[in-house]
Amino acid sequence: MTDEKHNQELADEEMINQSFQELLDSYLKTKHRKKVEIITKAFNFAKQAHKGVKRRSGEPYIMHPIAVAKIVCSEIGLGSTSICSALLHDVVEDTDYTVEDIENLFGPKIAQIVDGLTKISGGIFGDRASAQAENFKKLLLTMSDDIRVILIKIADRLHNMRTLGSMLPNKQYKIAGETLYIYAPLANRLGLNKIKTELEDLSFKYEHPEEYAQIQSKLAETQAEREEVFREFTTPIRQQLDKMGIKYQLLARVKSPYSIWNKMQTKHITFDEIYDILAVRIIFTPKNAEEELNECFNIYVSVSKIYKPHPDRLRDWVSHPKANGYQALHVTLMSNRGQWIEVQIRSERMNDVAEQGFAAHWKYKEGGGSEDEGELEKWLRTIKEILDDPQPDAMDFLDTIKLNLFASEIFVFTPKGEIKTMPQNCTALDFAFSIHTFLGSHCIGAKVNHKLVPLSHKLQSGDQVEILTSKSQHVQPSWINFATTAKAKAKIAAILKRERRGMQHLGEEMLHDFFKTQGLEATPENIQKICERHNIKTPEELYTAIGLKTIILSEDDKNEVKEKPATNNWKKYISFAFGVGKSNKEKSAEEKEPAPKIDSKKIVKLTPDAIQKNYIIADCCKPIPGDDVLGFVDDNNRIVIHKRQCPLAAKLKSGYGNRLLAVQWEIGKALYFPVNIYIKGIDSLGLLNKVTQVISQQLNVNIHKLSIESNDGIFEGRIQLNVHDVDDVKTITTNLRKIEEVKRVTRIENFDDQPS
Ligand code: MN
Repeated sequence: MTDEKHNQELADEEMINQSFQELLDSYLKTKHRKKVEIITKAFNFAKQAHKGVKRRSGEPYIMHPIAVAKIVCSEIGLGSTSICSALLHDVVEDTDYTVEDIENLFGPKIAQIVDGLTKISGGIFGDRASAQAENFKKLLLTMSDDIRVILIKIADRLHNMRTLGSMLPNKQYKIAGETLYIYAPLANRLGLNKIKTELEDLSFKYEHPEEYAQIQSKLAETQAEREEVFREFTTPIRQQLDKMGIKYQLLARVKSPYSIWNKMQTKHITFDEIYDILAVRIIFTPKNAEEELNECFNIYVSVSKIYKPHPDRLRDWVSHPKANGYQALHVTLMSNRGQWIEVQIRSERMNDVAEQGFAAHWKYKEGGGSEDEGELEKWLRTIKEILDDPQPDAMDFLDTIKLNLFASEIFVFTPKGEIKTMPQNCTALDFAFSIHTFLGSHCIGAKVNHKLVPLSHKLQSGDQVEILTSKSQHVQPSWINFATTAKAKAKIAAILKRERRGMQHLGEEMLHDFFKTQGLEATPENIQKICERHNIKTPEELYTAIGLKTIILSEDDKNEVKEKPATNNWKKYISFAFGVGKSNKEKSAEEKEPAPKIDSKKIVKLTPDAIQKNYIIADCCKPIPGDDVLGFVDDNNRIVIHKRQCPLAAKLKSGYGNRLLAVQWEIGKALYFPVNIYIKGIDSLGLLNKVTQVISQQLNVNIHKLSIESNDGIFEGRIQLNVHDVDDVKTITTNLRKIEEVKRVTRIENFDDQPS
């Protein structure tokens, strides 16, 4: 060994020991029980396991686990179990030691966490698409085991991001991308606000170095001015708070480069147009814990006396904390320079929670926290509760995959590798309904792990499920027996009810038509007679039975009512109108007969029954109920319904004026019609989710077909839906326009049409 090499080793050794000592020092400052011995043991074990290995930066490898342990300890606030796991987190992955070795030396808990960390070490986005789903699965399945796995993983990622500069550029993009996509939202969800912001900024810096540099230099240029504004704005506030005898700190919060950039992108504004780059934070020490909330509001009241508050911008997260535990009072005040400035009022405790998440709670517990005596359990339970009941404003990436921490739930994959969580014992049918009502109501079977199974098949965690559908399939009453989720049950019941209602309306009309052609009066007594003849209790049940064609009205029914004599062709009429009672051959012959002579002076009513038989919805303009329409009698004597503004209809108007008919919709909500909707907007994570939520959950409408394109941040979507009428379309478009990113919503005639 050369002297030089020897000296380098000594220097490394010293650097390692010093770094570890810093870790121990910050650990000893926490309120955790002082388990220095096991931490030292983990350190020594990891150090010798990684011995001789260097990071790309040239540092000894062990410096990385120590740095991760430091983050876990001082930035997340976890105790010895997590610190040991952090020190050991790369041992199984990168050395010859196994999880069993870790378990023998450090016990099952640490071994389990290290195992979880090893499993998800490949990252979310592997090189192959299939690896992505696999890793995702691992991530989630491990997450359900112990949330500490995720917290340590976040710390690991934070350190890797902090040292990303020494990586190759292509690796930088990959790591920065997945950090922004998964780790930052994850950190946000767990209340680790400071870490979230740092992760976002670091990702931004590597993904868009030029924009990052521009914003940084803009921030530097404007710093002196901001300081001046801050001084001027806070002087009267200081005086007031002093007068009130409050112990406080006034901080200038400068918006992070990533948030600034994000706002510039989404709102299409320049740096100079962002009004909230500077915010003022008042962090106070409450006189006692009980007075904390009151003091928040007292401070709010007194600052609003100094500056005029913005009427719509008071955010009370004090009485209603955010899903991730964030508490503060935000108020926007008008400065003397005429600028709106946001003031965030927080107690010290709230501030710690905002920056560190729930781990900060420990600091405020009497007697300190101990990771192994239920304190962590309490924290984890709190997180579980939050995750279980997310606030609507926290709808983000994590809500769509819904963190799952309960063993009573399983993870199921869509054919595209998307993860869905389902309750245990759910069936393929439940899964179909959980994806989409259309999928549920038209499913005929499923493929689980590529094998065909019936709808009643019970799913297992990790199954990949593909739902098979058929357009002709309809919800069957028997499905209720093997639907287990509330959602599927409710949907099935609703669809059956709706169908029954539709059948009831149809049946009622058929009965009235029957009476009319027989020259009978549709009096309650006469209807009652028919009910009695068929052993049916109520007229509603009778209508439904007629609609479902379980009862076919006949001469006997007429005789039962015993009124005026029948017309000659009533029997024929019935079978024609009801489409039953004849063989197929006869029926088709019948259909070829010219339709009854149409009186072009009368307004033709488009009823549900008629529309399915003698009328044709024009394919060129696809009108739906509520559209202004006209009818055109074609060569086969059928009525083709066109929109009045349809170009083809205009041609017909000029060439075949005598064949035009006035028609009127009389469909009600009995039938569904396909309609195409075009959406354009600013692409953002979760936009598609918002759109489908509006359509399928809020409005309970089925999506038939969907195409999405995204180019340079612009989102273009085409959706084919089944609706009843123009009113439905209006509701849908109005609701879609409420989505912030959506800039345009319009109905198009054909799915592939460009909107005019
Ligand atoms: Mn690592």
